[in-house]
Amino acid sequence: MIKKFIKNLFSTSKVDAPIVAAGSREAKKKQIARAKKPIVHKAHSYPAKQHGINPKHIPESARMVAQTLTDAGFEAYVVGGAVRDLMLGHIPKDFDVATNARPEQVLKLFRRARIIGRRFRIVHVMHKRDLIEVTTFRGDNADDVDTDEHGRVLRDNVYGGIESDAKRRDMTINALYYDVKRQVVLDYHGGVPDLRDHMLRIIGDPAIRFREDPVRMLRVLRFIAKLDFEVEAHTLDAMNECKDLLRNIPSARLFDETLKFFTTGHAGASMDVLQDYDFTEFLMPVLHEVMGTDRGADWVYAVLEQTDERVSEDKSLSPGFLFASLMWIKVEERWAFYQQQHPCWAFYQQQHPSIVALDMAMNEVVRTDDGEVVLTKRFTADMRDIWSLQPRLEKRLPRQVPKLLEHPRFRAGYDFFLLRAQMGHLGEAGLDVANWWGMMYAANGAQRAQMLEELRNMPKADNAAGEGAPKKRRRRKPKSKSNAKNEANTVVDSNMENT
Ligand code: ATP
Ligand code: MG
Repeated sequence: MIKKFIKNLFSTSKVDAPIVAAGSREAKKKQIARAKKPIVHKAHSYPAKQHGINPKHIPESARMVAQTLTDAGFEAYVVGGAVRDLMLGHIPKDFDVATNARPEQVLKLFRRARIIGRRFRIVHVMHKRDLIEVTTFRGDNADDVDTDEHGRVLRDNVYGGIESDAKRRDMTINALYYDVKRQVVLDYHGGVPDLRDHMLRIIGDPAIRFREDPVRMLRVLRFIAKLDFEVEAHTLDAMNECKDLLRNIPSARLFDETLKFFTTGHAGASMDVLQDYDFTEFLMPVLHEVMGTDRGADWVYAVLEQTDERVSEDKSLSPGFLFASLMWIKVEERWAFYQQQHPCWAFYQQQHPSIVALDMAMNEVVRTDDGEVVLTKRFTADMRDIWSLQPRLEKRLPRQVPKLLEHPRFRAGYDFFLLRAQMGHLGEAGLDVANWWGMMYAANGAQRAQMLEELRNMPKADNAAGEGAPKKRRRRKPKSKSNAKNEANTVVDSNMENT
């Protein structure tokens, strides 16, 4: 009895109890009472002198959101990656705020706010040009969480207090809470010492946490690449044990993670880590195949180096271009296959074998074995455009040149072509052809006309890049002129439709 009394006295379980019967008067009363009560934290609290965060580095938008919530009687902290990055002296990518206010309550406090997400409901608060993500503290009552047969969390909108929220975060270094007003960092899981030791450690039992959400393994890998940290031994063991679970993750989520690996300025390092820890296959099977060949690995690293350069120069990145590049060597291989060995060869050779074969290769590569399209249509459309521009840029047919220059994806297709030429994939003439396109693109009308004229007068063999492109073996059957033209148009049109 006494034991229970003492336990209750020091327990913070009331703070953590799920907020039930949302909206009822009783619940509201409890909520207000809870907000007024002094909160007993089991956290280690670090003052400014120790955590070293300069409050000036917290943007006005994040401060305003935290302040508005606390003024309304709620708890609110800057949390997650922002605190981690600020303590490491990095500039955070985004600022998240965690609170005990429920999404509907947050919504009422801000003019420009909306609730998003199903799996986890969060509120996006817009302030000037910033977007702050406000999440409600998560509860840890496992009975209220929907999971699939592998233990993966499907839906989870059970709310709790700061302690249960900290427990639900992925790594110790991501579970730090910065109280903007008091300027203290609250640490429930030893994140501060782990930050100091450059250690990535999953909170709780890593195998269970990876089963709940296998993407956490990819997040560990991403932080190895981004922060150059070590992985704690239990976390690493569980990663090796649970890799396979990534096969159940919806491709849209893997796509998001892949973008985070390759578009945040450490793409080359990310590729190293994915390879070193044998995870490429689980993130993107096609990329794994590509990386299995010397030519593929050289190409991918060249692409990623260029991507990192663009990030460091603050230039925009196109996901379509990135994915077109990562998958290209596989497309190229299948393109050659369909031209030379496919059983339909005898049928297709009468038309445009190179373009048809490329179309078949593209279809194959953007789908999984079960026919699922791996990437969203928006991106595959860009990728197909970039890929199908390649044989056209190689051939440089004078009558196609003006149309190609106006193609909405010409610039991306050209950049891709130039990289292929620079990598020596287009034979000796490749760089000349690429440079010609570069000059043509920059030229004015009169210069373009002159360049076209010169191209028309060029001996046929000199006007196209060779080698890299699979050889076209065309054996046309004699047929009437009009018939041949109709058939060719059908193929080109269907190809354009797909691009
Ligand atoms: P960055 O934004 O620099 O990529 P981040 O850690 O801030 O890194 P976010 O995706 O912005 O990553 O997530 C914000 C916080 O949410 C994380 O710091 C972590 O506390 C928590 N979080 C994100 N994803 C998960 C997950 N899969 N499981 C548990 N907690 C997560
Ligand atoms: Mg973040």
